[in-house]
Amino acid sequence: MTQQASNLCTSLCTSGDTPHDTYPRLFTPLDLGHTQLRNRILMGSMHTFLEEAPNGFERMATYFSERAKGGVGMIITGGFAPNEEGAGFTGGSKLSTQEECEQHRIITDAVHAADPSVKICMQILHNGRYAYHNESVAPSPIKSRINPFKPNELTEEQIWKQIEDFGNCAALAKEAGYDGIEIIGSAGYLISEFLLQLTNQRNDAWGGSYENRMRFAVEVAKHVRERVGDDFIFVYRIAAMELLDQGSSWEEVVQLAKEIEKYASIISTHFTWHEARVPTLATMVPRRCFTSVTGRMRKELSIPMITSNRINMPNIAENVLADGDADIVSMARPMLADSEFAIKAFEGREDEINTCIACNQACLDHAFNAKVVSCLVNPRACHETELVIEQTESHKKVAVVGAGPGGLAFATTAAQRGHKVTLFDAKDKIGGQFNIAARIPGKEEFIETLRYFKKQIELLDIELKLNQKVSAEDLVSQGFDEIIVATGIKPRTPDIDGIDHPKVVSYLDALLDRKPIGKKIAIIGAGGIGFDAAHYLSHSGPSTALDIDGFAKEWGVDFKSHPRGGVAGLEPKVSPSPREITLLQRKPTSVGKNLGRTTGWTHRIYLERKGVQMWNGCEYERIDDDGLHISRQGEPVTLNVDNVIICAGQESNRELQEELAKLGVSSTLIGGADVASELDAKRAIDQATRVAATI
Ligand code: FAD
Ligand code: NAP
Ligand code: SF4
Repeated sequence: MTQQASNLCTSLCTSGDTPHDTYPRLFTPLDLGHTQLRNRILMGSMHTFLEEAPNGFERMATYFSERAKGGVGMIITGGFAPNEEGAGFTGGSKLSTQEECEQHRIITDAVHAADPSVKICMQILHNGRYAYHNESVAPSPIKSRINPFKPNELTEEQIWKQIEDFGNCAALAKEAGYDGIEIIGSAGYLISEFLLQLTNQRNDAWGGSYENRMRFAVEVAKHVRERVGDDFIFVYRIAAMELLDQGSSWEEVVQLAKEIEKYASIISTHFTWHEARVPTLATMVPRRCFTSVTGRMRKELSIPMITSNRINMPNIAENVLADGDADIVSMARPMLADSEFAIKAFEGREDEINTCIACNQACLDHAFNAKVVSCLVNPRACHETELVIEQTESHKKVAVVGAGPGGLAFATTAAQRGHKVTLFDAKDKIGGQFNIAARIPGKEEFIETLRYFKKQIELLDIELKLNQKVSAEDLVSQGFDEIIVATGIKPRTPDIDGIDHPKVVSYLDALLDRKPIGKKIAIIGAGGIGFDAAHYLSHSGPSTALDIDGFAKEWGVDFKSHPRGGVAGLEPKVSPSPREITLLQRKPTSVGKNLGRTTGWTHRIYLERKGVQMWNGCEYERIDDDGLHISRQGEPVTLNVDNVIICAGQESNRELQEELAKLGVSSTLIGGADVASELDAKRAIDQATRVAATI
């Protein structure tokens, strides 16, 4: 960011005298009594695994500082446990000693130096029974479905120790220079485990009645406030809707919130437990799906409230505030996708925002595999210190052939560095396969990435040549210094007897509606594209990713009357599939096993509800007028289908590179043209950005 932009943010974002023209609420400061937030944009907490990485504190300092310069009002770090038993795993992040406190200074000093008007709070996360080690603790020794470790039951004495440790951790955070702390009292971690009978079966003062079950949460809040004093921000994240049948009633949630507000500065709503079976963050979840719940709670309380989940553009955030649903809008993943989100909104450059498309592929999927987080659309996220985009002195004339995600990332990064880039594509628009992805119901957000790149092409003065299938001769005649081949892939045609039968349709023809598809179909290949094809072909009516009521019906949630956990007694109701679909794979593993860790289950559940059959262990024998003949687990089966859709993976499209090589011209392969196997846009964009950073 330029110095001018940074100054603009410090001076203008903090002024409430003249409301912002487009986002009057988003850019109004919030007075917390002892201090003020410069605007209503919060970078929500995300555990990035930098907390445990070598040089992690230095890396976090740069990562958070870039977001501070980018205009957010307040930042909340990833989670730090108050003690060893609360750490997520052995050696997991915690703050319980003076030595650990010193490390945090690296973060707080850097953020305050980047912009003194930004507040930074540290999240205190006690994992309770979610902790992945033998020393984990919980109110009752009940194992979670998602963790092999059975927790140890806390004694009364140990309960008081946990409360003391929360207080100690908060005091150390204050000493480390944070402006506040956030306590996570939700999501199935320790505090929320005390709240539900599902996980708390004690019959002492900490179990039984709701008053007893909420005692731990209230004692933690009270203790923390006592330790940090009044001049310190204290955010409490409350379980507003667990999305579990055994969750809290609305009355219980409000009762707890009213107790907590006696001690906290701000209450932040959280939805779901990790073991719930309703998606809350995936791209199929409508924007601002959950904010009405925060809005209802806000009417009951007198302290400011934060809402979150699937708020990814400034107009959505402004509308949330305008509707009275919250005082502050938390955006976590959108700040990975674009560190300058806030300042771009402030300056009216919304079309330059690199929007989070809620794919979870590089953030939550990494985190749940204990891998440093990044972002599919912004590979620099959490890698700011090693992936540095510097101005070049060489100013080369560069041709990039193929405007899919790989070519787009390469072209824009190279142009940012000062190279003169010409970007070619054979099609009439940019985006490559991403255009097809965006046609899948629930993936509408993918269009935002193409809108972002389109704007960058304009801003960076990239010469865009569409409708041009480029040949090696074309390129050679134009005298480029570097040629980047980003020509993507070709769908694989499997070697099956009868593959030329008229029943056979490629996924491209099916998803682009280029061929009529019958009522009974078999899909060969159950990878990402096979699943997407099953979604597309089992769908009817408008996409529920654009309709909160439709989404609520499909997943069995009631945002209005709020039964226990928001879901108790409700049956998910998906609209029936217009087709009978069988999704097949050869592998003996369960179908969909290789889909994203945090989203795969949603696709499997959804398609099961649609009646899609998912078969593993299949061998394809032949395709003829009777349909698809297979052997399933060794047994012969004929699927009497109208069409067989081929989603059998992909092969690199390297025709251009081979032509160039014949002319003795070297080129650089990126994206699918380089390696087609297990290719996705995350890898294509990451590779392209890294190569472009070095030419
Ligand atoms: P491509 O996107 O294939 O782009 C190659 C471009 O090169 C094309 O635009 C083509 O027209 C152009 N081209 C080829 N030859 C020439 C030539 N000679 N001259 C000029 N232009 C040429 N990935 C994910 O990460 N997450 C998802 O959820 C996801 N969902 C998907 C859903 C579907 C239905 C599909 C089809 C793909 C999905 N993908 C997803 C995969 C992702 O889109 C690809 O991995 C990514 O697009 C690969 O990027 P690329 O730049 O290598 O190639
Ligand atoms: P893929 O994930 O590699 O799946 C290919 C499928 O085809 C597999 O099920 C494979 O299973 C089968 N297959 C492979 N070779 C075959 C052959 N010769 N004959 C018959 N079947 C064969 O590839 P994809 O589905 O084409 O997706 C391409 C990329 O896009 C993927 O890497 C994926 O990550 C990405 N994508 C991601 C998402 C997402 O939501 N994250 C969505 C769509 C696409 P068997 O070998 O067991 O039969
Ligand atoms: Fe958003 Fe996907 Fe980036 Fe995660 S990886 S921040 S979900 S765009």
